[in-house]
Amino acid sequence: METEIIRAIPLDARADADLVRAAKVIRDGGLVVFPTETVYGLGADATSAPAAAKIYAAKGRPSDNPLIIHIAKPEDAALYTYTTPTYEKLARAFMPGPLTVILPSRENIPKTTRGGLDTVAVRCPSHPVAHRLIELSGVPIAAPSANLSGSPSPTSAAHVIDDMRGRVDMIIDGGPSEFGLESTIVKIEDDGSLTLLRPGRITPEELSAVIPTVRIAGAVTEQLKDGEVALSPGMKYRHYAPKCPVFLLDGKTDAVREYLKAREGHIAVIAYSEDITALRTACPDADLYDFGARADELSQAHRLFYLLREADKKNYDTIYAPLPPTDGVGLALYNRMIRAAAHQIVKL
Ligand code: AMP
Ligand code: MG
Repeated sequence: METEIIRAIPLDARADADLVRAAKVIRDGGLVVFPTETVYGLGADATSAPAAAKIYAAKGRPSDNPLIIHIAKPEDAALYTYTTPTYEKLARAFMPGPLTVILPSRENIPKTTRGGLDTVAVRCPSHPVAHRLIELSGVPIAAPSANLSGSPSPTSAAHVIDDMRGRVDMIIDGGPSEFGLESTIVKIEDDGSLTLLRPGRITPEELSAVIPTVRIAGAVTEQLKDGEVALSPGMKYRHYAPKCPVFLLDGKTDAVREYLKAREGHIAVIAYSEDITALRTACPDADLYDFGARADELSQAHRLFYLLREADKKNYDTIYAPLPPTDGVGLALYNRMIRAAAHQIVKL
């Protein structure tokens, strides 16, 4: 398939005319990759089973891993799901923005979109290009991250093109993703409380300020046990993983330096900005990647998938990275990085 690549920065009259064509591709059952504030999404008409099926095929995604539907306005959730007072509170506090909410689905969202579940995940993105595309399409857009299944989510048009050229009708280049990790996902329970299924930019602390009871699903930080059912089907699959092994280092800078000094081979080290100089002296043959300042979790989130993909192109024997803390946005980093590392943590 021929893939048309269009640029939507700046979002001027020319770009808007291109988005009108992209919206027609969606309405006609085609696939369009578009930028959001989290990562790039691979979009299709969420109300069409054949269109949604094309998403699974293009990504190589297992058909039981449901898609998030993207809407133009928070109140549109009521057209496709049964919303609740808890949803209204979340919508007022966090939408449009990087929060996905799981609600009981109406019949107009086909089972293919929902991975066979009775619930559906809904998000209202704040990115102006995503918003405009959904509005022009006139349908909700089902969109998982625009990577091949298993790889880190794409946060730049170049990374989307690496994975999706030839597999989709159109790619909209909106520049680098602002946040860089996928949305926070919460499920609204029957009693109005929340279960956090995937951490993201909206933190458990922020959610608790609006909805008092927020439970964090075990799979956010732990490996699923054999036979355990994932609350969010995506959690059971290998994800975010480069081709080579990744190890997370849990220790103080001095211990990390001594450990890395003794490593051999073609290695990459993702390190906090403050540690780069010391580590460069300790392991002169390693390639060092600046993860951002230790306290600047937003910079780390912005860079993580970009760095993993760039490092992956160099065919390293091993990639080392720090084990992040589990509070605030750190929890989202921790959740993605333990998966990228297949839970291999080195305690120092
Ligand atoms: P992606 O869009 O690639 O970030 O993946 C979407 C994530 O949302 C996957 O981990 C899915 O398992 C999860 N998800 C989507 N719909 C539901 C749902 N109805 N119930 C639970 N998890 C869901
Ligand atoms: Mg994904």
